[in-house]
Amino acid sequence: MERNKLEALVRANIRTLCPYSTARDEYQGPLGVFLDANESPYPTGYNRYPDPHQKALKEQLSAIKGLPVENIFLGNGSDEAIDLMFRVFCEPGRDNAVAIAPSYGMYAVAAAINDVEVRSVPLGEDFSLPAEALLGAADDRSKLLFLCSPNNPSGNAFDAEALLALVSRFPGIVVLDEAYADFSAKGSLRAKVLECPNLVVLQTLSKAYGLAGLRLGMAFADEYVIRLMSMVKYPYNINQATQELVSKVLTEPVGAKIEETVAQRGRIERALPAYGFVRRVYPSDANFLLVQVDDADALYAHLLADGIIVRNRTRVPGCAGCLRITVGLPSENDRLLQSLDRYEKGDIHR
Ligand code: PMP
Repeated sequence: MERNKLEALVRANIRTLCPYSTARDEYQGPLGVFLDANESPYPTGYNRYPDPHQKALKEQLSAIKGLPVENIFLGNGSDEAIDLMFRVFCEPGRDNAVAIAPSYGMYAVAAAINDVEVRSVPLGEDFSLPAEALLGAADDRSKLLFLCSPNNPSGNAFDAEALLALVSRFPGIVVLDEAYADFSAKGSLRAKVLECPNLVVLQTLSKAYGLAGLRLGMAFADEYVIRLMSMVKYPYNINQATQELVSKVLTEPVGAKIEETVAQRGRIERALPAYGFVRRVYPSDANFLLVQVDDADALYAHLLADGIIVRNRTRVPGCAGCLRITVGLPSENDRLLQSLDRYEKGDIHR
């Protein structure tokens, strides 16, 4: 898509929005006397509002992710960025979004909150990308296409060429959720946002970086899209503690943890087919495995009674009989496999 076509996709009220601006935007000096924001002057460590533009954190992430600061949006989890896609692009009650199914549940929830129809397109055989059906589901009110790679809950990553072909053919914004890309040998397409104005790539620090509790999601996109998202977000969407703590954690390497998780994923993937009740272990590029078993509800209840909590996906269309199991610490995975051994022997909790 050409850049000049982007503007027509944006809701008219957002195109002309005059965003909230802070007085502090007008002063960049170091030792000001801040009497502009009705804050308490007594230091608590948190008596000042945080940087609404998250400048320092974005510069750090820019170096790590290899993209200019202007192409980075930071949100209160990637869930915030998902919601903002609807608020920026979709006219409630009129526009629609296309999405793969099964996939991450928040796309449909955020759509429903924003009164936007979702056109769900089932993945193909073995959870393959249904490219033609996705394009066929779109009409001139389709503003967004949600793709997730590696996909939750199926675990598979799609080929870059197939994803990019969809980006070039879809007449709206393609949101590519890469929450689990750090675990995939297929890598990330975030660099492509510099060439594809209608591509928005979502990533998060909640998975490989181990910071789910701090809530820091990222969107990489054309700078015009980033500006729109920044205009619509709450001014102080990333709190001071998160900005400081994330900045510190980003200086520590995560590679070894990712490698261990991938190795443990392989270990569980190889162990599972030996159990008689396991029908299928779907190949995974993420930090979880989707496993089809004879009786998902019974196995789920057994694991729960053993203190092991997995996600029962058996009632999700396309996932009949499936549990989604997150890869844990080696010792936690030991406990999982021991519990499965007991289930196999008929030593079943109910
Ligand atoms: N995208 C996908 C595909 C996810 O599975 C999740 C979390 N389960 C998220 C986004 C949400 O991430 P965050 O914690 O950054 O809001």
